[in-house]
Amino acid sequence: MGPSKFIGSLIGSAIGDSLGAQREGTYGFREVTEPGPVYTDDTAMMIAVAESLIECNGFDGAHMARLFVRSFEREPWRGYGAGPPGIFKMIKSGRKWDENLDRELYDGGSFGNGSAMRVAPVGLFYYNDPEKLREVSCQSSRITHSHPLGMEGAALQACAVSLAIREEQNFLEKLKEFTRADIYRKKIDVLEKLLDKKEDRERVVRELGNGIEAFNSVPTAIFSFLAGSSFKEALIYAVSLGGDTDTIGAMTGAIAGAWWGVDGIPPEWKENLENRNYIEGLGMRMWETVMSSQKGLF
Ligand SMILES: [Mg+2]
Repeated sequence: MGPSKFIGSLIGSAIGDSLGAQREGTYGFREVTEPGPVYTDDTAMMIAVAESLIECNGFDGAHMARLFVRSFEREPWRGYGAGPPGIFKMIKSGRKWDENLDRELYDGGSFGNGSAMRVAPVGLFYYNDPEKLREVSCQSSRITHSHPLGMEGAALQACAVSLAIREEQNFLEKLKEFTRADIYRKKIDVLEKLLDKKEDRERVVRELGNGIEAFNSVPTAIFSFLAGSSFKEALIYAVSLGGDTDTIGAMTGAIAGAWWGVDGIPPEWKENLENRNYIEGLGMRMWETVMSSQKGLF
């Protein structure tokens, strides 16, 4: 396997974020066809996840948490949600990454989509090892989102990226096998039934959601990927649904980019992407790291 799918997933995620950022938090059904000039916190954090996995040759929670803090301090204007900055402060003051710090801000922890939006690199790094993929998705989620449904959303999104890397033909079957929470399993059943009704956007949003909760956006991104017959079509569709569009765009883009590869992404969208060369380089380094750790297996 060449690096195209790894690069495509990271670039795709950043482009989906930039496209969705054009109408983040707005409702109603409206298509956006040109990504905006900047990406948001989704991509800033996704980059930190990728950097950490590469530098540590695997997951190191303390290291990843430090990169989140660094990234936020350099660019606090990226549109971070209400929770993470408070958690970054706690980490800076010496608190540990695995203390479920979000539970001090929200009872039971957060089930927002903030850990699923950045998890694509985990799906790439462990694309061949579903157990490890689940474990690292949940651990990387825990830094900011420790509610079981937040962690499960991240794991499901990473699983979708890994299935796309492998161009898994029984995509939904494999996702269902992987899923451990009822709410996600039910949504996967629903989305399967909606696949030939995608033009009924009102129904899609009613049944799958378009909000900031992981269970109201991860299945929507998976649906958008499956409903599109190209990267471009999937992404325009995802963002047309409204709601948390930058994150739904980022998640759809990570899956679609992994499936179609970097050459499947429209050149004019790539040209205008902020920090394109750096993100492409990260995808390449991630591919090299994964391939060298698998030496002898192929
Ligand atoms: Mg954002």
